Amino acid sequence: MTVTGRFTSPDGTVLDKESLRQKYLEERDKRLRPDGNDQYLRLTGRFAHYLDDPYTPKTERAPKTDHVTVAFIGGGFAGLLTGARLREAGVDDVRIIEKGGGFGGTWYWNRYPGAQCDTASFVYMPLLEETGHMPTEKYAHAPEILEHCRRIAEHYGLYDDALFHTEVEDLEWDEARSRWIIRTNRGDEFTAQFVAMGTGPLHVPKLPGIAGIGSFRGHSFHTSRWDYDYTGGDPSGAPMERLAGKRVALIGTGATAVQCVPHLARACEELYVFQRTPSSVDVRNNQPTDSEWFAQIATPGWQQRWLENFTANQTSAVADEDLVMDGWTDIARRVRSKIMALPPEDFTPEKMAEAFENSDFEKMEEIRARVDSVVEDSETARKLKAWYRQLCKRPCFHDEYLQAYNVPGTHLVDTDGQGVERITENGVVAAGKEYEVDCVIYASGFEVGTEYTRRAGYDLTGRDGVKLSEYWAEGMRTLHGIHVHGFPNAFVVQPTQGANLISNIPHNLTEAGRTIALTIKHALDNGFDEIEVTKEAEDAWIELLLSGTGRLLGSPDCTPGYYNNEGQDSGLRGRLNVGYPQGAMAYFTYLDKWRSSGTFEGLAFR
Ligand code: NDP
Repeated sequence: MTVTGRFTSPDGTVLDKESLRQKYLEERDKRLRPDGNDQYLRLTGRFAHYLDDPYTPKTERAPKTDHVTVAFIGGGFAGLLTGARLREAGVDDVRIIEKGGGFGGTWYWNRYPGAQCDTASFVYMPLLEETGHMPTEKYAHAPEILEHCRRIAEHYGLYDDALFHTEVEDLEWDEARSRWIIRTNRGDEFTAQFVAMGTGPLHVPKLPGIAGIGSFRGHSFHTSRWDYDYTGGDPSGAPMERLAGKRVALIGTGATAVQCVPHLARACEELYVFQRTPSSVDVRNNQPTDSEWFAQIATPGWQQRWLENFTANQTSAVADEDLVMDGWTDIARRVRSKIMALPPEDFTPEKMAEAFENSDFEKMEEIRARVDSVVEDSETARKLKAWYRQLCKRPCFHDEYLQAYNVPGTHLVDTDGQGVERITENGVVAAGKEYEVDCVIYASGFEVGTEYTRRAGYDLTGRDGVKLSEYWAEGMRTLHGIHVHGFPNAFVVQPTQGANLISNIPHNLTEAGRTIALTIKHALDNGFDEIEVTKEAEDAWIELLLSGTGRLLGSPDCTPGYYNNEGQDSGLRGRLNVGYPQGAMAYFTYLDKWRSSGTFEGLAFR
């Protein structure tokens, strides 16, 4: 569909939409590369040390050879939420297996300076009501979130049987005994009647496949394994005094870099930020929580109301009052008001898409104008402007990132979409120029578009010896994103093929946790050995998912990144990477009814 012409944004700017579209396409085209996800390096072999845990020493323990009712793989929000719901349901025998040295998942690993939640704490931090915690800020910082993970684990007794620094290597269905055999890298071989897996969408760090990357003689690390021994400082933001006099290269300008750049800018003698694609960085406006206000809102059931309100404001056609009022709901509010302003005869898919596009152009113009208003050097400001639709990449919100480029000694090295050219013994080369540095920090993100089983680090062998990697060879197949035919008593905890709500992942996990706890409880109470989704129910769910309009995020005409599989068409696999066609809130409502009916439609209990 082509929609041409100009429009005047509320501040009076006349926008030539065709030129903007052209500019967006040029920016995409210069970044597209045939190797897609293969451009990145896996952290194995001589790069494996980048994965070492800098935070907790490993302790020896005897291998487990026993049996548990439920084993949960992953000690992040997914495991904590499902574990909590299981305990509430009276299922006490729950063992959480976690590769990190403690609970927290992404918040265990990501302790880089400035790490903070981009979604309002009141909806992002799970189980606030149950644990009685009041977030101290609208957007909590990482140490508080990590502490909250520990609080949840303690509150629900999840430490009791947890195995830390333990990676599952193999999961095998024992047909004769209706249980899973679990093998780990610590020599464990135990069984579980049920297994659930919440390994997280962003848990395998990756390095950019830059020529010469192994040759650097200085210090280097990935942001998800921050080396405070080298930098000084701590996750709470204490100054990184050991960087005084140091020249540091930061590679990447995604959501992580946006948060740590201001801290590095304050600490380093010289900071070089290597940029391939700028992030869109909108206003953050963080606030401490007013305890009187919190006492008023925190009435029974408050967090579920807030969760639903946040989701409804983004994914329903008509939304109530906006409780959270932030950058995420602002995006949806603008689109909705443009669509609602259309005359009745223009309520067509084309006109609605045009309204959506106009709203996006307007928002991105504001974000680009913000760069000019903050960054003093006009050339640096020009390079920091993002030329794509806002949901092409993770929207960022920060009040110190752009400002950091005004700090003497902070340099943006823009690579015009091409990325770093080479790494040498002494530093980083971009556009033919070598920047000598003492330290290279990789803010290069995590594996997303690779196979689920590769990222999980294990495959599942289900009924009749079928592997999950074989069953999902053409793409993921589930009911509700949770149950997989041929893999009885196994549950996946993640957003895809369910609500697929990206702005607040914990809401997906909250609902999945409830569903799994209820389902397991039903089996245990009624003496069933096995739970399995029927082939018919799974097929019908997939058909329903494919009847939708597809992914809203990262369309193919965006600059490449993990939101759009690095700009490559992944065929059916990509089309299956979707959520419920009517949107996240409609999915949660549907799932609630499914649970309340008590019939577990689509599941067979034996
Ligand atoms: P990203 O994948 O978003 O960013 C990686 C960065 O590395 C990109 O800027 C990428 O550029 C750049 N890069 C890759 N290869 C090269 C190269 N060869 N040369 C130069 N640059 C290169 O990872 P992040 O860790 O920043 O964020 C991952 C996700 O984690 C976020 O999208 C978000 O979902 C989550 N997150 C959430 C936060 C929150 O809620 N507060 C905070 C931080 C992260 P290019 O864009 O061109 O590929």
